[in-house]
Amino acid sequence: MITKEEARRRALAYIEERPSAHAHEMVLVDALTQEEDFGWVFFYDSKRHVETGDRQWALGGNAPLIVDRRTGELHVTGTALPTEHYIAVYRRDGHLQRAHENAATLRTLTHVPDLVECKLPEIADTSNLRAVGWLARWHDYARGEVSAEFMGALVGLLVEPWQPLEYDGVHQCPFCRFTGGPGTVRFGFTTVSVGNSNLFVPAKDVIYVAPSLIAHYVDAHDYAPPEQFQQAVLTCPAMRSFAYLKAIRERSRSLVAARRGDRLP
Ligand SMILES: [Zn+2]
Repeated sequence: MITKEEARRRALAYIEERPSAHAHEMVLVDALTQEEDFGWVFFYDSKRHVETGDRQWALGGNAPLIVDRRTGELHVTGTALPTEHYIAVYRRDGHLQRAHENAATLRTLTHVPDLVECKLPEIADTSNLRAVGWLARWHDYARGEVSAEFMGALVGLLVEPWQPLEYDGVHQCPFCRFTGGPGTVRFGFTTVSVGNSNLFVPAKDVIYVAPSLIAHYVDAHDYAPPEQFQQAVLTCPAMRSFAYLKAIRERSRSLVAARRGDRLP
């Protein structure tokens, strides 16, 4: 066990050894320090930026530092994902490997054509799953008008979408060139998070699987999902209702099994 003062000293030692320490005087931004169950998260920046608030002096790549109170170890997070993501992964795993992997795959969301089998990792049998909205840069996709009624229903399902697996990747919009797209979509009085979950919509015989970013693709990039998906969204039972879960279970036992953490034989 180490104290906060000792943890802070280790964070300071780290930033003083950074190559850019010669060019900029760097300081810990103590007002931002976060105390977590596992230790502390320290933030740092150039002294000049902290004092002047002028963005031109802001450091790049100054990923927050985690110092573990139990081991005293220092872990460098990243800047590709929100800091909360690194913290959540560290709290769960005790290391950041998964977070760094997620950051690495961030911009390479797999392209899957609409309506083909959606081979989700860790789902034993995906034969009843159909991909919708797995768009990627340099791959053309269907564009066209969609009804506001459909958009409303889609956003409604995304308020708290049922997830078979704990999902810790972050999808960025491949078409929003510089920003990676928004983290939320607002429609009417409803605001939903996008990029951090998938949507499962039962239809007649299959389940459509869409990344939550689909709401942004429809809103901002003219995407027109397949007609049968639109119909399924419009007629989908209320998210997480008994009817919804029953419809999922009847079409894919693997999804429900994954949710329980079971492994199918
Ligand atoms: Zn976008």
